[in-house]
Amino acid sequence: MRFKRIFATIGLVSAAALALSGCASGSPSESESTPVAEGVTLEGSPTFDKMQERGKVVIGVKEDQPNLGYFDNVTQERSGFDVDIARWVASSLGFDEKQIEYKPIASANREQAIVNGDIDYYVGTYSINDKRKELIDFAGPYFVTGQGLLVKQGEPDYQSLEELEGKKVCSATGSTPIQNIKENFPGIKTEEFDLYSACVDNLKNGQVDAVTTDQAILIGYAAQDPDKLMVTTGPLLTTEEYGIGLAKGDDVLRGHINEMLTDGGDTWTEIFDKNLGDSGITVDQPKVNAY
Ligand code: GLU
Repeated sequence: MRFKRIFATIGLVSAAALALSGCASGSPSESESTPVAEGVTLEGSPTFDKMQERGKVVIGVKEDQPNLGYFDNVTQERSGFDVDIARWVASSLGFDEKQIEYKPIASANREQAIVNGDIDYYVGTYSINDKRKELIDFAGPYFVTGQGLLVKQGEPDYQSLEELEGKKVCSATGSTPIQNIKENFPGIKTEEFDLYSACVDNLKNGQVDAVTTDQAILIGYAAQDPDKLMVTTGPLLTTEEYGIGLAKGDDVLRGHINEMLTDGGDTWTEIFDKNLGDSGITVDQPKVNAY
């Protein structure tokens, strides 16, 4: 298989190590514009051809979601489960950290960025759904969570969205949770921003009563400010399966990533433990589907 050949070349262990460290592994003499893994070919993938031509991979990410996709302005470090999954994919394609360009892209702009070819792929709490699949394809899933609620400490421990009728709930434009509320809970007032961090600021200021999005995202915000914020204890309100967004029709790249996820050994668990091991989230790697 094509994928097996690739990993025989670069080695699973080094791919995992690279993904986890996020560090460049190439020697200083290596050209910036040459992928590190010799012999990597992905015949028939227009996206991979583009990556090779420009000598780097352009990845769409989130950067305001602690533990998942985060950029620390002080240390200039990028971290999170999604970011490490993105690095793992890049490494499997022969690109090391210095050959990655990260582009922060908000929820509402993801499909368009992929359709336009602004990014090679997107890894950032991106739920697989049919509407999005009309425009793009997904590899994965690589993670499963569900819609939850974040409130200020001392506020009611809401167990369902029904209990928020008449209240103001904030979420990101173009996200599945905001769509869920607008379509199914017309009695809930909504506030939208491009970024969830803006919703969290509004929650702290008392401008909104709750923030809703995937529980895994909310846990990251609550952990940053546990004296002020809490994730409610109710059941997950939806099921959200995260996929890696890529250009529609690039079945070769999609197949490659799916095989990487399926045959990746302990790498997924290492990435999970590193980023979410202390979060209280317990979830196994989901089975990859042939989307
Ligand atoms: N997973 C949901 C979505 O893809 C919410 C999180 C996000 O906006 O990235 O819409």
